[in-house]
Amino acid sequence: MKKRISILGSTGSIGRQALEVIDKLQDRFEIIALTAGGNTDLLNEQIKKYHPKYAYAEDSQSITGAKVLSLEEICSIKENDIILVAVSGKIGLRPTITAIKNGINIALANKETLVMAGDIVMPLAKEYGVKIIPVDSEHCAIHQCIKDISQVENLIITASGGPFLRKSVIDMKNATVEQALAHPRWNMGKKITVDSATLMNKGLEVIEAHHLFSMDYDKIKVVVHPQSIVHSAIEYVDGSVIAQLGLPSMHIPIQYAITYPERFEGIKSHSFSFAEIARLDFEEPNRDKFKALDLAYQAGISGGSATVCLNAANEEAVFEFLAGEIKLFEIVEAVEYQMSKHNNIKNPSMDEIFEIDKEIRIKTREWLNSAKV
Ligand code: MG
Repeated sequence: MKKRISILGSTGSIGRQALEVIDKLQDRFEIIALTAGGNTDLLNEQIKKYHPKYAYAEDSQSITGAKVLSLEEICSIKENDIILVAVSGKIGLRPTITAIKNGINIALANKETLVMAGDIVMPLAKEYGVKIIPVDSEHCAIHQCIKDISQVENLIITASGGPFLRKSVIDMKNATVEQALAHPRWNMGKKITVDSATLMNKGLEVIEAHHLFSMDYDKIKVVVHPQSIVHSAIEYVDGSVIAQLGLPSMHIPIQYAITYPERFEGIKSHSFSFAEIARLDFEEPNRDKFKALDLAYQAGISGGSATVCLNAANEEAVFEFLAGEIKLFEIVEAVEYQMSKHNNIKNPSMDEIFEIDKEIRIKTREWLNSAKV
């Protein structure tokens, strides 16, 4: 029987790669719905090719060939076996919750969902017996390594180090948008690529791992591994370390997440060769140079609304950077400032989360604009 899937964010980097995976596994998937943000042209091309019944885009008037539904309506369709949440930013949160309440399994490529509301989303998934299968390569690696979470001593998350790993602090501070977007290993969307340049992405992943695997922050380690071959590892209580390796391609974790628990040949291009890779290097992250990492740990350990603040300030500052309005180092400065001013709310409700998110975004923009004068 075919697995029935909807893809939220099918025109983005993860969504397009998911469709490439499905191209190779056509007899195994039926697409129920595809959704886009602003790129309705590409969505219409995808509708022509994949014939989903339903679709959504910001400009829904321009959709042709599929019935228009809202994201939440799409996530309420019980024929979905799985929904790939591949939208960027906070827009992923409410649809994910709707899908969970409808008992639909989630392949989650949207970090913000767990960073903003992991304490709501994970217990809800448990309550409804819904699987949350991570698409993020590091968490996908851990998911593949873990047999019994109670026997795990540490999670070891690898980081490529991004484009500024070997650059001076001065070079990094004055980096152009182009330099920040030149990621050495992974081809991803713009927001996440900038996050990788500041290591905020790794910080968000630490928070994501805390929620996905209910692991205390002092048991989540980050190690820089420039080759991006070891995608993450776990250390068991007996000292045994299990890692997941593979060439750096998002096709592999996407395919794993949407075909789980089965595995298929799919899109794999050539065999893995240790001899070809020849060496694997590891080093401690430079926490003075990449302050975002510790800011994320601090937010995670504080819990409550602190991670909402971290995420909102960061995302807003990244947008300003991408628009050419601020320098790279100001992103982390903005996050640090907003976190220092934030009144943490314990166990925020969904409404409070969205309220705080909105408020921090406004404050961040204001602060960045006034700081520039
Ligand atoms: Mg990742």
